[in-house]
Amino acid sequence: MSDCLFCKIIAGDIPSDKVYEDDKILVFKDIAPKAPTHLLMIPKQHIASLAEVTEQDADIMGYMMIKVPQIANQAGLSGGFRTIINTGDDGGQEVYHIHIHILGGAGRMPFV
Ligand code: AMP
Ligand code: ZN
Repeated sequence: MSDCLFCKIIAGDIPSDKVYEDDKILVFKDIAPKAPTHLLMIPKQHIASLAEVTEQDADIMGYMMIKVPQIANQAGLSGGFRTIINTGDDGGQEVYHIHIHILGGAGRMPFV
């Protein structure tokens, strides 16, 4: 996806503050953090949003769910963390390459 911001980050065409990378996913710091720790986990394959996910994506979606707590632990979020996936315009999604927000580091987060 040549016009996708996060595909450009994966390709290295746009710089990012990477905290984890393997052959399937990339995790980097959100450029406008909403918490002391605010990471974004993205699959290297382009999936536009959670609304676009199909059974073909079961492996990568499962893989990300397994990696989230590992990355959170590595980031020092031993007391817990919040995960958010904004989906579609009404869900507040701004970048249409699926991403999991991982937030924490400020004590107990407020509800919603
Ligand atoms: P969403 O609203 O769920 O689509 O979230 C998109 C997120 O991407 C926002 O939290 C932005 O701050 C973040 N973001 C946008 N551009 C960049 C960038 N170049 N590097 C890191 N994070 C970014
Ligand atoms: Zn993309």
